[in-house]
Amino acid sequence: MNYLSTRGTAPELTFGEAMMTGLARDGGLYLPASIPVMTPEEIAALAGLGYEDVAFRVMRPFIGDTFTDDEFRGLIARAYQGFNHAARAPLKQLAANHFLLELFHGPTLAFKDFAMQLIGQMMQAALAKSGNRITIVGATSGDTGSAAIEAFRGLSNVDVFILFPHGRVSEVQRRQMTTPAESNVHALALDGDFDDCQARLKDMFNHFEFRDTVGLAGVNSINWARVLAQVVYYFTSAVALGAPHRKVSFTVPTGNFGDIFAGWIARAMGLPIDQLVIATNQNDILDRALRSGDYATDGVRRSISPSMDIQVSSNFERALFEVLGRDGAAVASLMDDLKTTGSFRIPQGALETLRATFASGRCSEDETLATIQRTLAQSGELICPHSAVAVHVAESHLGATPMITLATAHPAKFPDAVERATGIRPALPPRMADLFDREERVTRVPNDLAALETLILERTGRA
Ligand SMILES: *Cc1c(COP(=O)(O)O)cnc(C)c1O
Repeated sequence: MNYLSTRGTAPELTFGEAMMTGLARDGGLYLPASIPVMTPEEIAALAGLGYEDVAFRVMRPFIGDTFTDDEFRGLIARAYQGFNHAARAPLKQLAANHFLLELFHGPTLAFKDFAMQLIGQMMQAALAKSGNRITIVGATSGDTGSAAIEAFRGLSNVDVFILFPHGRVSEVQRRQMTTPAESNVHALALDGDFDDCQARLKDMFNHFEFRDTVGLAGVNSINWARVLAQVVYYFTSAVALGAPHRKVSFTVPTGNFGDIFAGWIARAMGLPIDQLVIATNQNDILDRALRSGDYATDGVRRSISPSMDIQVSSNFERALFEVLGRDGAAVASLMDDLKTTGSFRIPQGALETLRATFASGRCSEDETLATIQRTLAQSGELICPHSAVAVHVAESHLGATPMITLATAHPAKFPDAVERATGIRPALPPRMADLFDREERVTRVPNDLAALETLILERTGRA
């Protein structure tokens, strides 16, 4: 299985190479050359299997020769052993035909652990084979950072730098990034918003001399391996509700479009998904783009669901590539428009395909709070603000098909918003109970490429 870039000019890579590379050298994102399809019989055979077994069967066709079957089974087993729930991604019922997929039982209490724990295992295994040393730089709206730190802390051949927007993450999110004591972990608070963090990260990838000097690797969802790991829970949950004999729908709280794009892959692999619903908070660029055809950024507005405070949604490029008939030059030209003017117009044919592929909706701040409160009253479930955005949007897409709404973070990661909505302050799980007593270590950094590169060169002993 080879991987090709959404901008059409970077060399094709194997799975292992694409994983270690992150962003393609033409600025694009990697995608498999073709998407393997599972037959209805193969999907039916997933019923009753454990999460790890489903993960192996769903992901194996994408891995090629990067790992043997035995190696890959071992990596999967180690990735999920630290999860706090035997099902890994349990389903809870909210209403007659509405289910919540709880994705927050991993070590940092957000769905990012599903991909990051596995990518941590896979990268370690690849580095052990190659003997290389790498520098991981990640941009985070709050949850990717802690998940990456948890996956790579203390490793001798990896340095981890995490850029987060100063003052725009919750205190629990910040402390999860700033309290690990290992010397290979570097939390950087950048003066800007998440889009600035992600833009500086992409600048580093596009600065080939720096990229090659530090052995830059990326763990943001620009990394295909992240998206792949997230395909698995679409299968486990759909099969639990009767797929492939019965269709299901999904609503996904969306920022960088990685998680919902994983749902698109699951559908392309043959999973019978009816609606695939994009749920946005007040940063509703994706919902507006689908309605109007104009993808137009207009500045990030802070919300109570900060992990979705994004305007430049990087994985949307993967969806564009698909609906433009895999025309890399067309994608590159739209991305140029975005970079120079802050917007682009989705071509009519592509827009129609997008509208046939995804539904969408947005949720205001007041609606988010009301949904947290109402969900608790109606079902006894205490949900985080991101999950509430999705529950609200899902409620206007309910029908005869079971709806699965993704619950992406534990409510205790966002205690202020949850308390405002319900009067209840959710407690951190016991293993994290001392988070507020631990010492913080963080460096404030300007929104400036040269300054960031200098700091990374110094900290990795290369200056
Ligand atoms: C990252 C994140 C999202 C958005 O996921 P994308 O893959 O960026 O669309 C939603 N909710 C939470 C809690 C997150 O951490």
